[in-house]
Amino acid sequence: MVEDPMVKSADTSAYGLEVEMSLLLSSSAPAPWGAAVHEAARLLVDQEWERNSPASVDLGTLSLLLFARTHSGDRAPGDVPIAELREALYDPGDREPQIVDEIDRALTDTGQGYSSTALRDAPLLTIFNPLRSRYGGRLGASMLADDIEPPLPGPSLMRAAAARLARLFANSPAQDHEQATGPVVAPGPLIIECDRIQIVSRSSLRPLRCRQTDHVRAVHVDGPEVIQECDKGHTSTDWQLDVARVRMAVARATGAHPAAQGRHQFQELLVASPDLPRHSDPRQANAFLSEPPYPIVGRDDIYEQIERLSGNQS
Ligand SMILES: [Zn+2]
Repeated sequence: MVEDPMVKSADTSAYGLEVEMSLLLSSSAPAPWGAAVHEAARLLVDQEWERNSPASVDLGTLSLLLFARTHSGDRAPGDVPIAELREALYDPGDREPQIVDEIDRALTDTGQGYSSTALRDAPLLTIFNPLRSRYGGRLGASMLADDIEPPLPGPSLMRAAAARLARLFANSPAQDHEQATGPVVAPGPLIIECDRIQIVSRSSLRPLRCRQTDHVRAVHVDGPEVIQECDKGHTSTDWQLDVARVRMAVARATGAHPAAQGRHQFQELLVASPDLPRHSDPRQANAFLSEPPYPIVGRDDIYEQIERLSGNQS
């Protein structure tokens, strides 16, 4: 049986609560955001955080709800009673939860809402948009049908998260949540300076360049955002440059925890493309970088084997 290099290189640290927190904790978000994320993490500390766990969606949803309820500064996220959260999250499963509108208003009130003039979405909107989108995964799938009818909206990720969270808070006593302690993750950018940064898929290697095709020499990671900077100072984003996979690339190169902040310099950094699992090591996943698992059988050997087989049959 061929050993799957993806399984072999599985790195459990790629899917922990601390990593999920680091993907939310933006240093440019309004101050109450950090407390909301930490309180959400504390309440969800006992969830499963392995690969494909919906807990990361629940963490984003609960962080946004706690932010919406506490951003005015009247109370801390830890002062919001479990009963209040349960009531806010409870909704019949056949419609979008009411917290979507409440979060939307809170982001607008704090300058994190949609702006037609901003070059990039605010960090909290970057977190909120994929959670509330009702077209996630549908636009691509419906391309063939687009000339017949427009795609229909489906349930958002936030709808399922609200239902899971409502169940969680209904099924466990409030004192369990009061006693829980969660990890502390420092917000702040992770800055990478590098001679060459390559996006690595199973079958390709692509050096990162800006839109003017200059080489990218620096990458700034901050919460949900990852911004590249070329040697002429142009800043941009790249759809294949994924924030979690950049964190994993730095963790592999330095041995640091993938949730860590700081500034690093490398000659070359290999970042897995979004079609590879978050934990995969580009050196093992890519056909050109990985060693062949078995010695290549030469053509002469194959002719020899065919002759032997055909000789046996006659
Ligand atoms: Zn440039």
